[in-house]
Amino acid sequence: MKSVDEGNPLHFQDVTVELGGRPVLREISFALRPGEVLALVGPNGSGKTTLLRTAQGLVRPLSGEVRLFQRPVERWSFRERARLVAWVPQGEEPYENFTVEEFVTLGRYPTLGPFLPEGEADRKAVNDALREADLESLRGSGILRVSSGERQRALYARALAQGAPLLFLDEPTSHLDMAHQLEVFEQLDRFVSRGPSCAAMISVHDLNLACRFADRMAWLSRGRLVALGSPGETTTRERIREVFGVEMEVEQRGEKTVVLPPPVRSDPPPADPGALRVHLVAGGGSGEGILRALLTKGYQVTGAPVHVLDSDEVAFRRGNVPAPVVAPFAPLTERSREQHRRLLGAAQAIVVAPLVIGPGNLANLADLRPFVPVLPTFLVGGPPGTAGRDFSAGQGERAYEDLVVAGAVQVRGTAELMALLSACASDRGRASSRGTGGPAEVLPASGAAREDAPG
Ligand code: ADP
Repeated sequence: MKSVDEGNPLHFQDVTVELGGRPVLREISFALRPGEVLALVGPNGSGKTTLLRTAQGLVRPLSGEVRLFQRPVERWSFRERARLVAWVPQGEEPYENFTVEEFVTLGRYPTLGPFLPEGEADRKAVNDALREADLESLRGSGILRVSSGERQRALYARALAQGAPLLFLDEPTSHLDMAHQLEVFEQLDRFVSRGPSCAAMISVHDLNLACRFADRMAWLSRGRLVALGSPGETTTRERIREVFGVEMEVEQRGEKTVVLPPPVRSDPPPADPGALRVHLVAGGGSGEGILRALLTKGYQVTGAPVHVLDSDEVAFRRGNVPAPVVAPFAPLTERSREQHRRLLGAAQAIVVAPLVIGPGNLANLADLRPFVPVLPTFLVGGPPGTAGRDFSAGQGERAYEDLVVAGAVQVRGTAELMALLSACASDRGRASSRGTGGPAEVLPASGAAREDAPG
C-alpha cells in the first residue's frame, strides 16, 4: 500500500505540540509538496515558528508524527537532517566578524564533517551560493559590516550552500525594504526549481507578499491550521477577519489576489480639552503596551503611519486611534507622510515606541524632527542602533540622535513615560487655567484614506 506521504518531502499527521504546558500546535496535518513554495501566515503567536521548528525535529510533538522524506523526522541524525533541510531562522545575528565567504562556507559543515578540509564540491557550492545571492563582490567583506539586506542575503546563501532540497525560512522579510522582500521570494522561486524534490516553507507577515509569490498558503490561528490552499482560494475577507481579527478588502486583480485596507478610517474623535493629545510612533508591536497605558489614562492618541496588519496597526484599529495606514508591501507614501504631519500638528506630546527602524519607516522619524522643539517628545527604550533595532545601515540611529539634539527626552520604559506625560498634562492644565494655554487646536479632519496597493 502506498503511504500517504509518498513523494512528498514533508508530512505532518495530527501533530500537537505543547510548550511550557500550553498547546501551541493542535492536530496539524498537511504535506509539503515537491516544487512548491508554501507560505505560513497568521498573527504573532499563532505557531508559525513552532511549526517550522517541529518540521525539522527541533521541537518534539506531544502526539502525531512528522515525516521527513518518508521517515519519522527523529529517526534522521542531526547531520542527516542538515543535509535535507536548510534553515534560515528569524533575526539571526552573526556573532563573529567572518567574511561573507567564510560565513556562507559555514553552510557546508554538515557535509564536511568535523575538521575535514573543504573540497572542490564545497568550494563550488559556496561560489554558486554567493553568485545566486548576488554577493560575489562582497565575499571579502565583514559580515557584521554589510547592510541588513546584504546580511539577509548571506543567511540565504549559507542555507543554499548547504545543498539541502528543503528550505525553511522564518520571517526573512520583516526588516527588509520592498526590493529586498521581492528578492527573497524570487530566490525561493528559483530554489524550488533546482531539483525534483526541492520545496520551501516560509513564514511571512505580509499577506500581499504571500498572495503574490506562494503556491499555497497555510493559515494558522491559535495553533490550528484553519485553511490550506492557493492564495486565490484561501484569502477571503471572512478568513482575514477570523484569523487576524481585522476588516480588510480582498480583490482579484487578474491572476493575483490583493489585500487592501478598508477605504476610510474614522476621523479623530473631537478634542476633549481635558485630555492630553499624544502622538505615538510605533510599529511591529512595539507600541502595544504603551498604547494600552495611554488609552487607560484617557489620553487622546493619534498614531504615525503603520502598515496594514502590522501588530500596531491592529492595535490602533482596535483602540480607534487615527493613524495613516499604508498598504502592506509598500513604502510610506507621500500621502501618508502628509497625514502624519497633520496629526503631529494637532498633538501636544510625542512618544516614540522602541520600534525597529528600517528603510520602510525611517521617514516616520524624519517627519518628527520639526515638531520636537515645540512639543515634549519622549523616546522609549534607548537608541535603536545600541538596542539592535536599527536595520537601516545607521540612518535610524542618526535620525534618533537628531531628535535628541532637538530636545527629545530618552525614557527607559512605560512607567517613566507615564509619569512624565502626567506632568505634561498637569502643566497644560495649569497653563490653560491661567488662560495662557489657549483652546485646544482643532484636529484636522484627516482620517486615513486607503493607500493603493501595488498592482
Ligand atoms: P509565531 O511564529 O506565529 O509568532 P510561535 O510559534 O513563535 O508563533 O509561538 C506560538 C506560541 O507558543 C506563542 O504563544 C508563544 O508564546 C509560545 N511559545 C513559543 N516558544 C515557547 C517556549 N519555548 N516556551 C513556551 N511557550 C512558547
